[in-house]
Amino acid sequence: MQLRVQNLTNLSESAPIRRSKVKDMSAEVVDSNPYSRLMALQRMGIVQNYERIREFSVAIVVCGNNVNQESLTLASALGIGGVGSVAAEMLTRCGIGRLLLYDYDKVELANMNRLFFRPEQVGMTKTDAAVQTLSDINPDVACNELNQTWMESGVSEDAVSGHIQLLIPGETACFACAPPLVVASGVDERTLKREGVCAASLPTTMGVVAGLLVQNTLKYLLKFGHVSPYLGYNALKDFFPTMEMKPNPQCSNAACLERQKEYILAKPARDAAAKAKEKEEVLVMEGPVHDDNEWNIR
Ligand SMILES: [Zn+2]
Repeated sequence: MQLRVQNLTNLSESAPIRRSKVKDMSAEVVDSNPYSRLMALQRMGIVQNYERIREFSVAIVVCGNNVNQESLTLASALGIGGVGSVAAEMLTRCGIGRLLLYDYDKVELANMNRLFFRPEQVGMTKTDAAVQTLSDINPDVACNELNQTWMESGVSEDAVSGHIQLLIPGETACFACAPPLVVASGVDERTLKREGVCAASLPTTMGVVAGLLVQNTLKYLLKFGHVSPYLGYNALKDFFPTMEMKPNPQCSNAACLERQKEYILAKPARDAAAKAKEKEEVLVMEGPVHDDNEWNIR
């Protein structure tokens, strides 16, 4: 028992061992391949081309009320807070091409109820601490900037509900069409925001919401499964409501109205592409299962 404690102490004091960068994602099933289990998604027919993950950039930003509608950024609310930090770690482990982290806060001991940050990182800026941890996990991810579509998420002040919302300008509701964090909690947040009362937070709720956020991000980027425009999580009732978030034709945001117009105008082209894809899939299904016919089966 004593030896065991000694070993653990040595382990925590030693510097983390960082693996060298990997040029190509390999599907080879060997213990030393960090991507074999992710590339297996291809072999299982879930994702067509997993390696495309390296072509994508995800920005994780603090999401306030002054969101710029026109910056199409795939993002998580709360910066590198409870949800953002866990989402960043998950995306790093999934091999995302580039990760851009925005947060001006420093790591505090009060953050230790959350996953991701470690006590020895107290005093570091959250971005520096995140870069340190993420580079140790996967040195193939570099942090840089690229703007994409919004994926907004948040956890309620009482820590028992959350949501993920997909914002595609013109196609789904924007922040001006419908304010985020409207459903799922059923709690009036004004009653929770009193002086001297801090918001509650649970690493479990944040872990679930971060998991759902990254799951939807992967589905959206790698084009598999269905991404709900709104997905809620109510921990008390084990309830996951989903709903459509159509844009508001009377939205107060001019850019949103412009995008809505573009989206409607592009409908015939979209329908034609969907039809062509359907036809292609039918042809693939009707085609021969094996090209070779060793046994001359007719
Ligand atoms: Zn709008």
